[in-house]
Amino acid sequence: MNQRDSEQVAQMFTDGGYTVTQDEFDADAILVNTCSVRDQAEQKALGKMGIMGRHRQRKPHVVYGFMGCMAQSRGEELFKNIPHLDVVVGTQKYHKVFRYVDDILQSRIERRMDDLSTVFKGHEICDIEEEEDSQNTIKDHIPKDYQASAFVSIMQGCNMKCSYCIVPDTRGRERGRPISDILSEVRGLRDKGVREVTLLGQIVNLYGRTEFEKVDGKSPFVQLLEQVHEIEGIERIRFTSPHPIGYRQDLIDAFTYLPKLASHIHFPMQSGSDRILKLMRRPYKNERFIEICEKMKTARPDLAITTDIIVGFPGETEQDFQDTVNCVKQLEFDNCFVFRYSQRKDTPAAEMELQLPESVKEERNQELLTVVNQLAIAKNNALVGTTQQVLCEGPSKTKQSTLSGRTSQNKIVIFEGSPERMTGQLLDIKIESSTGFTLYGTPVLDPVSAH
Ligand code: SF4
Repeated sequence: MNQRDSEQVAQMFTDGGYTVTQDEFDADAILVNTCSVRDQAEQKALGKMGIMGRHRQRKPHVVYGFMGCMAQSRGEELFKNIPHLDVVVGTQKYHKVFRYVDDILQSRIERRMDDLSTVFKGHEICDIEEEEDSQNTIKDHIPKDYQASAFVSIMQGCNMKCSYCIVPDTRGRERGRPISDILSEVRGLRDKGVREVTLLGQIVNLYGRTEFEKVDGKSPFVQLLEQVHEIEGIERIRFTSPHPIGYRQDLIDAFTYLPKLASHIHFPMQSGSDRILKLMRRPYKNERFIEICEKMKTARPDLAITTDIIVGFPGETEQDFQDTVNCVKQLEFDNCFVFRYSQRKDTPAAEMELQLPESVKEERNQELLTVVNQLAIAKNNALVGTTQQVLCEGPSKTKQSTLSGRTSQNKIVIFEGSPERMTGQLLDIKIESSTGFTLYGTPVLDPVSAH
């Protein structure tokens, strides 16, 4: 989601005549989009911003800004320790970043023309208020050389109150975009060559529940999926992340009659222990989570399921942890993102007794990762020798001379071929080897296209 928000801001700068650079030495404005989910991420962002202050010595006009969740939760306090910081912009104000930065930059450049010795201190603009309709502002995309897939933000905020999470404070209450706006964004992406869209929301399956009506027993989210499905040229639809709350039969059924829905869900479980789920304030039991996974596998037999799990939550006993390990083995996830619990300021879990030592968290992290990796590697190895339909996404990030794409189950496949000809194509790829997490294969080309 942060990536999508950053893209929106970058596109506004591009529209305003700026060029996006990945090299901070070239930049006239440096913006850090921050995450608050883990303390480590915040510390990294603060450290990075501190170090980057040195660019002012070479280029006194450089504008520095924080955006996103940490900006939202810390606000003005950020100016105290970072004297060169100019703007702090919250999660509902991404659309205003360009104006703030551009105004500061233009005024600095003008003043420097009069007096080259001018030294600039931080401007200290802080805008973290709520903004009505901010969910409708994340809609533009940066044109890319090769683009087969794109993220589409369909809502903002979350009404849940998980005890470890700061998102409800930083992103506000759930607000969905109108279906018509989302459809026109998807059609625009299709016109630029995009073949796969991933619909994004904090709890994506609850999209529109407070704004839009159910129709024929179908939730607004399923209505949206049906309408995106009708867009010709869009070949695959993904969404992330769903929550067990509101994961109803209409969504399970959608996987039986909407073939463009990819055979993969990323479905956060967080813990396999009911006791811990309750402490986490996740309002479902493990049995319900398993039931949804099983119904989904019946609806779509080749479905891959990945998940998020937190280990070392306050009060987690060895038995609670083993319940999680057993659940992972039972559900045979295709992959899991395992997080060691990290205390977040201003969350109820941070105040709970029985915080576990880092050594226990690390031990459990390693034990669970071993199980997860064994399952993931076995599943990928089983694909060697099969032919998979892969959406080619263009040159591979790790080795530009090869191409990369994903199967419907979201497994990465590397193969040789022409980026101009193959990007955006659904190709049959014969899988020849697996390194555990990445598959390698060869396109099965018909005799005409082979030449
Ligand atoms: S569902 Fe829970 S973890 Fe996810 S964003 Fe909402 S409060 Fe945070």
